[in-house]
Amino acid sequence: SVPVLTIDGPSGSGKGTISRQVAERLGWHLLDSGALYRAVGYVAGLEGLDLTDADALTRCARELKIRFVPAADGSDTRIIVDGLDATDALRTETAGAAASAVASIPGVRAALVDLQLGFRQPPGLVADGRDMGTVIFPDAPTKVFLTASAAERAARRYKQLKDKGLDVTLEVLQREIEARDARDASRAVAPLKPAPDAVVVDTTGMPIATVVEKVLALVRH
Ligand code: C5P
Repeated sequence: SVPVLTIDGPSGSGKGTISRQVAERLGWHLLDSGALYRAVGYVAGLEGLDLTDADALTRCARELKIRFVPAADGSDTRIIVDGLDATDALRTETAGAAASAVASIPGVRAALVDLQLGFRQPPGLVADGRDMGTVIFPDAPTKVFLTASAAERAARRYKQLKDKGLDVTLEVLQREIEARDARDASRAVAPLKPAPDAVVVDTTGMPIATVVEKVLALVRH
């Protein structure tokens, strides 16, 4: 069957960057599963839905229309939701918090399973998220769980958002990320944790290129 590399971990662990670079090096497809939850939160916001209305949010997830359009010039992949370019809106920590809220609803998670499985196409898939190795691709031959100290994760997210021109402070962001990670780790459905067969890599103080090589070595092993 088509090989899958799962890369799970908390926000700021480097998952997004590492997944993108590893997928590029391998010539494999990429699944940014966080974008799906962010998109459901985003559409829910546009429709004025209550973020605790499980039935409405589940319907929203089932009807989600999302497309990932790679930019030709090497800049960010555009994320098109219901025909609108939502890339910038999905990036904010407000969108991250909304994603975390909708992601705790079992119906929403169930509604997104087939969409995620559909990304498994030859020659292979790098799947980035929280439950890629535990729930969505339990048979993946290679599973990685990335971590980093809380301070470093906040600092990385801060730099990322600043680079994109977003107005954030490190203190507020660190608090928001800690709240989101605590919710993701303590929820009843698909809590954030390494799969039993995942290799845990602590990326604190590690340059991106080093992590990429480490992960590639695991795939080729
Ligand atoms: O990775 P990202 O920061 O985009 O994820 C946003 C939120 O979506 C996470 O905080 C988490 O609550 C949720 N998520 C999830 N399962 C995934 C990916 C993301 O629950 N596989």
